[in-house]
Amino acid sequence: MYDLIIVGAGPAGLTSALYALRANKKVLMLEAVCYGGQIVNANKVENYPGIEEISGYELATKMYNQVKKIGVEIKYEKVIKIDENKIVHTKNNEYQSKAIIIATGVKKRKLNVANEEKFVGKGLSYCATCDGNFYKGKEVAVNGGGNTALEDALYLANLASKVYLIHRRETFKGEEKYVKELHQKKNVEFVLNSSINSLNGDEELEYIEVIDKNQNIKRINVAALFVAIGQVPDNDIFQNVVEIDENGYIKTSDGVHTKTKGIYIAGDCKKKELRQLTTAVGDGSIAATVAIKEMREI
Ligand code: NAP
Repeated sequence: MYDLIIVGAGPAGLTSALYALRANKKVLMLEAVCYGGQIVNANKVENYPGIEEISGYELATKMYNQVKKIGVEIKYEKVIKIDENKIVHTKNNEYQSKAIIIATGVKKRKLNVANEEKFVGKGLSYCATCDGNFYKGKEVAVNGGGNTALEDALYLANLASKVYLIHRRETFKGEEKYVKELHQKKNVEFVLNSSINSLNGDEELEYIEVIDKNQNIKRINVAALFVAIGQVPDNDIFQNVVEIDENGYIKTSDGVHTKTKGIYIAGDCKKKELRQLTTAVGDGSIAATVAIKEMREI
């Protein structure tokens, strides 16, 4: 029997683990893929107080090592179900806990165009820092208008011979600072008011077609397309123990509690105003503190 099971080892989950372990609780973390969550894809983090600049992977590794050092048990198993009586099911195992924190974050939004699955790993990528190096000296494109797309385009501009930044609007959702930096790069071309219309090539991606707001279609030859069009939640498996809003995010009464006693929420998977690293670690610390306090009361 664990005191606390944390589902998801991103910044929110890792912070929950840090607080629970420091309160001397027996903690199990269950992670489907890799520790660190979305932040491992960030080439540079510059808005985490106290750290001027660090790679997302390095920061996530520091968080992970910190909880490993104080005794977290982590298992790389995908959770498939949580029961009301706080039994967590994975494909091959079941774990009983006194309390559970769901901190599963979000997953990358797909383009939803034909051939998307066919080209994954063959020119289509959702992670510029993971795959950018394969396209050194080649022409590539980035799709999106948030900070991820802007940072990806900046990162790739230093590797690729040319970067097309394709965004469906005239203006960007991401920070102006990055937009300015990109305008200064000679090898970055902005393709605005445009969306991806098709992905083409025999085995590997060879060219994309974009469609603008006047329905004009343009062909762009690229060796790779990096998709950075935001994230979507993945909470359906928890429907029996939590309430989910119309966009798929978990509803809470006060930012922490769910409809099931002893099951708490932290991080990007919940309905919230701002999804950032700083808010994720804040959520993680609050969820663990509340869970521990209520465990004590029981
Ligand atoms: P995001 O901020 O949600 O931006 C997603 C972008 O993709 C938007 O520009 C959106 O267009 C566009 N988009 C959405 N669906 C689309 C579709 N179906 N087709 C084409 N375009 C589509 O996502 P993000 O950039 O991944 O960032 C997520 C969060 O992480 C944000 O809070 C961001 O600030 C944060 N972040 C921070 C840093 C950092 O501070 N270092 C780095 C990366 C991310 P519209 O503009 O039209 O909505």
